[in-house]
Amino acid sequence: MSLIVQKYGGTSVADIDRIRNVAMRVSKTFDEGNKVVVVLSAMSGVTDALIKMANQVAYAPDKRELDVLLTTGEQTTVALLAMMLKGMNYSAISLLGYQAEILTDSDFGNARIAGIGARRIKELLDEKMIVIIPGFQGSDQNGNLTTLGRGGSDTSAVAIAAAIKADMCEIYTDVDGVFTADPNICKKARKLDRISYDEMLEMSSLGAKVLQIRSVEFAKKYDVPVHLRSSFSLEEGTMVVNENSDMERLVVSGVTHSKNEARITLKKVPDQPGIAAKIFTPVADAGILVDMIIQNTRAEGMTDLTFTVPKSDYKKALEIEKKVAGEIGAEAVIGDENVAKVSVTGVGMKNHSGVAARMFSALAKENINIMLISTSEIRISCVVEEKYAELAVRVLHTEFGLDKE
Ligand code: ASP
Ligand code: MG
Repeated sequence: MSLIVQKYGGTSVADIDRIRNVAMRVSKTFDEGNKVVVVLSAMSGVTDALIKMANQVAYAPDKRELDVLLTTGEQTTVALLAMMLKGMNYSAISLLGYQAEILTDSDFGNARIAGIGARRIKELLDEKMIVIIPGFQGSDQNGNLTTLGRGGSDTSAVAIAAAIKADMCEIYTDVDGVFTADPNICKKARKLDRISYDEMLEMSSLGAKVLQIRSVEFAKKYDVPVHLRSSFSLEEGTMVVNENSDMERLVVSGVTHSKNEARITLKKVPDQPGIAAKIFTPVADAGILVDMIIQNTRAEGMTDLTFTVPKSDYKKALEIEKKVAGEIGAEAVIGDENVAKVSVTGVGMKNHSGVAARMFSALAKENINIMLISTSEIRISCVVEEKYAELAVRVLHTEFGLDKE
């Protein structure tokens, strides 16, 4: 007998038939003798539709009230599943976030979980109930409803699994697991059986949209084994686990790409203390995330400085830097929206030298120019022209031996 948390995402509960499919899976797991907690998303599209409605009644909807609205999406699906399971003669009960004692801070729309009083959940499990909890929601210490940020149901599920010390947190979605590259652009991509928390964190922040990043951080911190799998098949998915468990020893375990990048260069910036702060403080104040930065040395006390921002913030960042350039006496600001970031990730890199050189050579062979480079202990990223992004992924996938036979 195991204690299992099963989380079903929006596409898995998109309509009544799919909720029935979830009820079948849940009841089967229960019949096999397990204790089951279910965490649900809203039906796919519902959260977006609610946000749209809010924007129709107010220019900048009040954040507290927006959370009251957004929590209804998940409230709908948990009630429907509980009713369905009861109709199938199972004892099931829904517990809303506050009833499940999911306590968060008061940062409406992006709240963080402060603690989960697992007492009630455990009692109900001991009474052989199937407990169904809406993802994405909690409440603050004054009883206000809160939400955890888009995609937050993943985090709810992992946090609940940690709180009740579940043996496994299964995350059901519409993909079969984590792939070595996006199968839509790399036909030879294959599903990974296992991946470490750190690799998953890197890949999530690089744009592999399988799990909310915060959920992976939670899983790592509390050592919750996560099984990411499809609700539409019986096949095993990908286990996200601690690094030391017997993992396939790959140097590189995934190649990711993101077209959501833009590049900004300030030319002939005075090479003096305080200049970088002047360049980056206003972008940070505007809430824009700067990713890669390079500065090259030049003669005569001048330097060029280049950095990347998300494409959606490009215009705003460019405007800001034009103003900054005037203030600090830089010669010009130029930008480029047609860039992409291609990355290779793998814990195996820690014990292998020459991974970066191999990456650069493989790209060079295809005549792909590298504009910016950044690295972490387990990742190397290159910014290239956007039109080469897909080719770069395929080339690197082959180079690092990831192609399926
Ligand atoms: N329903 C929320 C969203 O669409 C939370 C989730 O599905 O994880 O972002
Ligand atoms: Mg999701």
